[in-house]
Amino acid sequence: MRRAIYPGSFDPVTNGHLDIIERGSKLFDEIIIAVLVNPEKRALFTVEERRQMLSEALTLVEGRGCRLRVDSFQGLLMRYAVEQQADAVVRGIRAISDYEYELQMALMNRRQEPGIETVFMLAAESYSYVSSRLVKEVFSLGGTIEGLVPATVEERMRLKLGKS
Ligand code: ADP
Repeated sequence: MRRAIYPGSFDPVTNGHLDIIERGSKLFDEIIIAVLVNPEKRALFTVEERRQMLSEALTLVEGRGCRLRVDSFQGLLMRYAVEQQADAVVRGIRAISDYEYELQMALMNRRQEPGIETVFMLAAESYSYVSSRLVKEVFSLGGTIEGLVPATVEERMRLKLGKS
């Protein structure tokens, strides 16, 4: 039984995240998609909203027998990963800019918990420029984000940001 944690802000979940989850489901028996509760970082959506959007979006993912679960956590990722008896942490890499930060985090995490591996997955080419931050920025300026996030997320963004 191989269990992975896929941690992130997911503010909101994008099709790039979903692609990582779908491909990750070939590697693991269970993936816990864990929303980081970070009070310092200003988020557009509450943790509860982000969890709901993830749960809705996961119905679109072909899990191939892999159990997909949504959770949230606070504090040290490695402490949470141990509590959940995870074997690995999954992270997505889009560009060199992701790599530098992710490498540093992965090495620090390995030092905390040498038994838990970080597995990096390359972003799909078609989503490699997609980030939650950019999606929010473009949408709030009136641009189109169709095809970059699930329709349910687009709808919630419309409600939240009052765009028609
Ligand atoms: P964080 O705040 O931890 O960066 P995100 O929700 O932005 O959280 O991302 C969670 C993980 O998903 C990170 O490893 C990030 O690199 C990855 N990721 C984000 N967007 C994409 C994408 N479009 N394609 C692949 N991976 C992505």
